[in-house]
Amino acid sequence: MKNISIWQDTVQCDNYAVLEENLDVDVLIIGGGITGCSTFYQFKDDKRKVALVEKNRIGSGASSRSSAKITFLQEDIYTKLTNIFDRDKAYLYYRASKEALKIADDIVSKENIDCDFKRSKSYLYTLDPLNIKKIEKEEKLLSSFGEKTTDIKKLPNGMRVESCFYVNNTYIFHPLKFIREIIKKSISDNHRVYENTKIIKIEKVNDYYKCYTTSNIISAKTVVFALHYPYFLFPYLMPLKCYLEKSFLVCSKVKKEYDFNAINIETPLKSMRYYDNHLLVVSSSCNLAFASNSRKMVKDLEDNTDITNYDYVWSNYDLMTFDHLPLIGFIDDNLILATGYNTWGNSNGILASVIIKDLINNKYNIYKELFDPKRGFNKQKLINYPLNIFSSAYSFIDSKINKNKAFYNGNPYFTKKDGKSIAVYKDDDGVEHIIYNRCPHLKCSLVFNEVEKTWDCPCHGSRFDLDGKCIMGPSNYNISYK
Ligand SMILES: Cc1cc2nc3c(=O)[nH]c(=O)nc-3n(C[C@H](O)[C@H](O)[C@H](O)COP(=O)(O)OP(=O)(O)OC[C@H]3O[C@@H](n4cnc5c(N)ncnc54)[C@H](O)[C@@H]3O)c2cc1C
Repeated sequence: MKNISIWQDTVQCDNYAVLEENLDVDVLIIGGGITGCSTFYQFKDDKRKVALVEKNRIGSGASSRSSAKITFLQEDIYTKLTNIFDRDKAYLYYRASKEALKIADDIVSKENIDCDFKRSKSYLYTLDPLNIKKIEKEEKLLSSFGEKTTDIKKLPNGMRVESCFYVNNTYIFHPLKFIREIIKKSISDNHRVYENTKIIKIEKVNDYYKCYTTSNIISAKTVVFALHYPYFLFPYLMPLKCYLEKSFLVCSKVKKEYDFNAINIETPLKSMRYYDNHLLVVSSSCNLAFASNSRKMVKDLEDNTDITNYDYVWSNYDLMTFDHLPLIGFIDDNLILATGYNTWGNSNGILASVIIKDLINNKYNIYKELFDPKRGFNKQKLINYPLNIFSSAYSFIDSKINKNKAFYNGNPYFTKKDGKSIAVYKDDDGVEHIIYNRCPHLKCSLVFNEVEKTWDCPCHGSRFDLDGKCIMGPSNYNISYK
């Protein structure tokens, strides 16, 4: 069984150089996931100088770990948006999501990109009789938007459901093939990509930004934060405004592959799609604050899905907003943020790229207000603000309690050296791996992810390999013990 995603296992993105000089660019894109790479693509034929920097490898973040659907059927999002705002806002988000699909389709056909991009019907279902009304409500809303929906009682793979409908013309794809190809198509002398290059500090100087890597400075007129979870606190106080959701995904071989994708409306989540004779299932989703026991999460997934025999198991995180809308737009002069996709970042990340280009070009975009990261309070935000502060405090305290040896059966174990907390993990070959057990981002204690053999921060989602290299999340530093 592999602890990487089926996408990471089947595609290697090309290698790009580390930045080894100072740069002067018009646009700097920070982050080489679906958002950053799609934005880079949007500037392909632009005369301005553009650089994309990625702190690890291109496509190594959340984008390489999703279930890779591109769909506008996103649980009961339109009902939720109607409840929080009104039907008009829900409709605008529907339009935006449909547009995202068209942008993706246009890119794939225009550039002739081989990324297993396929049309696939999206199903929304429930297994709980108490949720039938919710399904009906979402379907009614979509019909009122002009979308054709069809009711059914069984999924195409034979799975019985209490209530379900599907929509046509949504997509599934291979996210890393997509990312790899759009980067290849967009690179030129004026448009460069750098890997293993992290931005650790940004300073505003007159009408440009000085962006510091560990050894160089990039001066940029406009900076795009496409880094999933921004490492910085200011100016946007991210840790207070959003929370992270963690889920596990498994892939198991199946005799027959179906070309539909489905998601249910209740907890536990069971989201499905097929790829290359595998069934991919997402389950066990919860707020990161309550997700420190990976072993239990995978056990819950097995219980929820009846899948115990799988070839791949991995986890993914996404940034959730309290009003279910992404954060795409200016957070300061010429400083643009795109994140908060609520687990729908393939479509929203691709859409963000077009919005970002319009913002940079000072061109009107109909979705500018809808996704404005500086949008005001609504009742949902007011309720969730204190809850989020509580869950952050909970995860901080919980990370300390999880240090007891019984939880991990003595491997890893925790101790102190030179006054610093360290953790030691002995692998199957008896080799000891030692790390500093503090996340460099905001100093939370790390918990050990026994399923993927990584050190995970329960507060803001930074993840480190056994030897302390940061492989995901907001931390800009490793925790290797020297
Ligand atoms: C379980 C699960 C299933 C999902 N399935 C779907 C799905 O089916 N469909 C869908 O639409 N969405 C899905 N999503 C959501 C989707 O995976 C994400 O929203 C999306 O991948 C986010 O893309 P991104 O480009 O913003 O982030 P990322 O892919 O994480 O890219 C950000 C990049 O920025 C880099 N970076 C960070 N800090 C710095 C720095 N300081 N300097 C340089 N680089 C930096 C990171 O290394 C990273 O590579 C799912 C999410 C989860 C949790």
